[in-house]
Amino acid sequence: MSLINETHDINLTSWVASANVANCDFPIQNLPFAAVRRKNSNEAFRGAVAIGDHVIDLAKVNELAIFSGDAQTAVAAASQATLNEFMGLGQRYWSALRLALSKALREGAAEQTKLSDALIAQADIEFSLPCRIGDYTDFYTSIYHATAVGSLFRPDNPLLPNYKWVPIGYHGRSSSIDVSGQTFHRPNGQTKAPDAEVPSLGPCKRLDYELELGIYLGKGNELGDAIAIENAENHVFGFCVFNDWSARDLQAWEYQPLGPFLAKNFASTVSPWIVTTEALAPYRTSWTRDENDPQPLGYLESSQNRELGAFDIKMDVQIETAKMREQGAAPSLVSKSSFKHSYWTVAQMVTHHTVNGCNFMPGDMLGSGTQSGPTHEEAGSLLELSRGGKEKITLNNGEQRSFLEDGDNVIMRGWCEKAGFARIGFGSVEGTVLPAK
Ligand code: CA
Repeated sequence: MSLINETHDINLTSWVASANVANCDFPIQNLPFAAVRRKNSNEAFRGAVAIGDHVIDLAKVNELAIFSGDAQTAVAAASQATLNEFMGLGQRYWSALRLALSKALREGAAEQTKLSDALIAQADIEFSLPCRIGDYTDFYTSIYHATAVGSLFRPDNPLLPNYKWVPIGYHGRSSSIDVSGQTFHRPNGQTKAPDAEVPSLGPCKRLDYELELGIYLGKGNELGDAIAIENAENHVFGFCVFNDWSARDLQAWEYQPLGPFLAKNFASTVSPWIVTTEALAPYRTSWTRDENDPQPLGYLESSQNRELGAFDIKMDVQIETAKMREQGAAPSLVSKSSFKHSYWTVAQMVTHHTVNGCNFMPGDMLGSGTQSGPTHEEAGSLLELSRGGKEKITLNNGEQRSFLEDGDNVIMRGWCEKAGFARIGFGSVEGTVLPAK
């Protein structure tokens, strides 16, 4: 089965010259979606697609009526303030619009003159959340992260017995999810030091980031109807880079027996762009389960999932401290990882989430869980990098961190590259810690 089509052709170039520059995040093979408006304006937000250092304003494209059929239906839906209706249309419409945009943006396309009116420089836009995220579930799919964190919280019992059978997750809170550029106050909360008799209330002392992917659901399912694994990815619209900020000292005290609560719901930040599942087709890879581990139950198995169910999405994390900004110094790279290390695939997450009949709505989001890789340098959180706060990591300018300090801006990036295909990027997600209130 091939999921590759003409929109992935490495030889395509665009009449938007900046899209043809090597290492650009947004070549014509990418075409990710966001909700935008002109910076500092009162304009309505509307859907847009990135191309080079510009965006194509989809409300304008709708007005121009240059497309027809499914692509025109899709662009009309995508010109609204949120992408939910477009995401709910389903794969056939997503693909039709992708192909129409790919053709219209190619070098020599007849649509160039008209479509030029829909171009806006990325420097001139601002973003909102790309869709209304009704529900958000955070998974825990990196066994390296689960083992490392488990060994810090429960040294004698790091990986609980259900981990290798169940794609573990918890229901998070969507009201505190915002788009890149989010700032938030260091959360206050209840913590208890191991040697203290009683807990106390105060600002979090162990504030952390979590390097994750956000997975957006497109077409939903009826309450009561499970989504079979063979059909799971038809429900997945696309992916973003996601920072699931975490208060480790609050978490350690509150997490048993019901899981994360206030340690996780004070802020979470998504990258503005949603890279579609279709755009990611070339960077799929096989998914395997170690032969010494339990093999998944039947409902979590399919030949397609084995063959192409994993995605090699590379990710990294940088910290830019307040001092770096004063000095004009570059942010410091602290971690690099890839989603290909995930113990469970996206299809398995979707299928497991609905096996009991739970219903997804268009725009719902799944967090992948912190994507730590097999080596210490690939850890996706400071909790792991600092070995539970026992060590400090040294940044480029000599500053040190065990956990985040006020003023720290955390920058996460994602991208895919593979021989024979264009490199595509997710752009970045940034967020800054303000002092506690
Ligand atoms: Ca998380």
